[in-house]
Amino acid sequence: MGKKIFISNRLPIRIEKTDKEGFALKESIGGLATGLKAFHRDSENIWMGWCGLKTEELEGKEEELSRKLMKDFRYQPVYLSGEDLDLYYQGFSNSTLWPLFHYFPNLTTFDEKQWESYVKVNRKFLESLKEIMEPDDTIWIHDYQLMLLPGMIRELYPKAAIGFFLHIPFPSFEIFRLLPWRMEILEGILGADLVGFHTYDYTRHFLSSSRRLLGCEHEMNFIRYHHRTIRTDVFPMGIDYEYFSSAVPSPGHEKIDVEKVCGNGEGKIIFSVDRLDFTKGIPERIKAFSLFLEKYPEYKERVSYILIIAPSRTQVENYVDLLKEIQELVSETNGRHGTLGWVPIQFFYRSFPQDTLIDLYKSTDVMLVTPLRDGMNLVAKEFISARTDRLGMLVLSETAGAAHELGEAVIVNSNNSKEMAEGIKTALEMPREEMIKRNSIMHERLKRYNIHYWAEDFLEKLDLQIQRVEDNKVIPLNKKEENRLCDRYEKAEKRILFLDYDGTLVGFQPKPEMARPDGELLALLQDIAKSEKNRVVIISGRDKNTLEEWLGTLPVDLVASHGLWIKEKKSALWHQTEMIDNSWKKEIRPLLEMTMDRTPGSLIEEKEFSLAWHYRRCEPELANIRLSELKDALIALTTMGNIGLLEGKKVLEIKDTTVNKGRAAGMLLSDRNYDFILAAGDDMTDEDLFSLLYRKDDYTIKVGKGETQAGHYVKDPEEIRRVLTRLAGL
Ligand code: UDP
Repeated sequence: MGKKIFISNRLPIRIEKTDKEGFALKESIGGLATGLKAFHRDSENIWMGWCGLKTEELEGKEEELSRKLMKDFRYQPVYLSGEDLDLYYQGFSNSTLWPLFHYFPNLTTFDEKQWESYVKVNRKFLESLKEIMEPDDTIWIHDYQLMLLPGMIRELYPKAAIGFFLHIPFPSFEIFRLLPWRMEILEGILGADLVGFHTYDYTRHFLSSSRRLLGCEHEMNFIRYHHRTIRTDVFPMGIDYEYFSSAVPSPGHEKIDVEKVCGNGEGKIIFSVDRLDFTKGIPERIKAFSLFLEKYPEYKERVSYILIIAPSRTQVENYVDLLKEIQELVSETNGRHGTLGWVPIQFFYRSFPQDTLIDLYKSTDVMLVTPLRDGMNLVAKEFISARTDRLGMLVLSETAGAAHELGEAVIVNSNNSKEMAEGIKTALEMPREEMIKRNSIMHERLKRYNIHYWAEDFLEKLDLQIQRVEDNKVIPLNKKEENRLCDRYEKAEKRILFLDYDGTLVGFQPKPEMARPDGELLALLQDIAKSEKNRVVIISGRDKNTLEEWLGTLPVDLVASHGLWIKEKKSALWHQTEMIDNSWKKEIRPLLEMTMDRTPGSLIEEKEFSLAWHYRRCEPELANIRLSELKDALIALTTMGNIGLLEGKKVLEIKDTTVNKGRAAGMLLSDRNYDFILAAGDDMTDEDLFSLLYRKDDYTIKVGKGETQAGHYVKDPEEIRRVLTRLAGL
């Protein structure tokens, strides 16, 4: 077991330049740093990220800083220039990904230059990783700034153990598809072995985008992609429960005298604290508070709202406009409802240390956490944990990730002012017993799934996934493996090559009749079949007439209809391998017809011993629903006899299972002893062939993506043609 490397956009450290020593370093402990502390310190593990200062500010002292950070903290810094930060961080990360993933397409910019910088900076992280990476290391990458990094690492280190956690929402497919670089982003994330999200909804959205954009199917949250299995799962990030629930405030911490600020001792306190961000729903919340005062004037002078907004991303234009809007709304509300002795909203535009926030959490009657969209929201969890008296009521919007775990709060829709105003009233008037009951349940949950548990849980699942991957390895036919194959081929005296046709020798075409062999393929087959030592078998699901017309003149054996018909090279006649009874077809056909009528774009194909339902041109979500309905119905009908279901690429085939490629190949293999056997195929029908060839020296090659029993895989038909060309030349 190697070391662990944690990677996030920024290192949890504050660096200041000093005149004398060069740099003063101070750790800044946030949620993530607390969670990873147990794993990071006192061990060989390393944390990697941007150091917090622009390269221009370092005056060439990078080496010195790197040495110090590694020695004192086990931090590996990544250096970014001012331009990198403008384009990659303020730009692509915070002006493209952040708004889009939080469902604000109208605030999203799409800028090619910023994208290029995002790619470049992800590459910089890769370069920095290369300096510390060793073969057995486990890497855990955090968040939306580094979504390309898992894929980049995978390309360079195919066997690396990589986890990725997204701390913001993954949006629904309809939003995600708007991103011009959506494929690259998905492919980047899918470089990981384990992909974690805060809620099940985000996981679902990710699975559906992967299927609809990359065509990779998933089963029970496992995605198959480029011959790898990627696990996706839910890990709702917790907080440092111990700290918030038993905090003994640091002696000198800044205090807010709530009573003084709010100007009266008896009134109720409403409190909210957010970073300045359009996702937090701050204007909507102020409007709802104003509406509350309007509807329930009896609360005037009896309630005060402490509104804290911590400055953030002040260089981004949208944030400047937002601040202005908030300031105007606060003045308007205070002007409209305030009296000479009472200011309804006490507004602070600055950040406070967490100890001060804990004081406020403890003094408040109603905590307002109403983001329009938030990956998780830790403030809500901190408030509940800080209230060891189980009093105070949380009003939480349903679009905060935290709402999935804090369902006992007063849940509101943050776009609905009336509902929010009612929510404030309900929370203010919640009977004490009820409040204690609800808060106690939430407490228990936060205590159990705290930040330490979260980090442990993720790393444990990552280990499990790596183990799973180790156990089911299909090796790519890379240069080394290809050379070994050629070597074995050259030494052999009697060789047989089983080659599937569609998807293996030729790519898929919109219509089956368009997949006719091209001149290059015919020449290649001619070439490889002409060696005395070779027997070449084209083994296909196509009918015998098509194979005869397309390949009949070549010196090869032909196997048609998945093995029902064989024509050997030396013979001019086709012979049938099995006697089959097709009487089952008339029972099954009506069911397929009904499914076809209800699924636009699908069609039925009848073959000699099978019926197939094709859904390649259907809307994928609908096709999937129909597919599972159809399978349910068919399983009941096909329990008797030899009828089986076979799932291919966008096709479900119902067939007589006595016929299959494995059985046909078995017949051809029985008469002679071959010392070199190769089989190449791309879909489920070829798996029967692969499972027949289990000897260590047999070569089974899967073409394209998907689960397989084959020993090797190649990317596409072009690659298999290239390998065959090389063999033909030996
Ligand atoms: N926070 C703070 N001081 C402030 C405002 C916020 O320490 O003035 C902390 C707060 O306690 C919480 C974090 O910043 O831990 C905000 O996390 P959250 O998930 O609520 O929102 P984010 O800012 O990550 O979108």
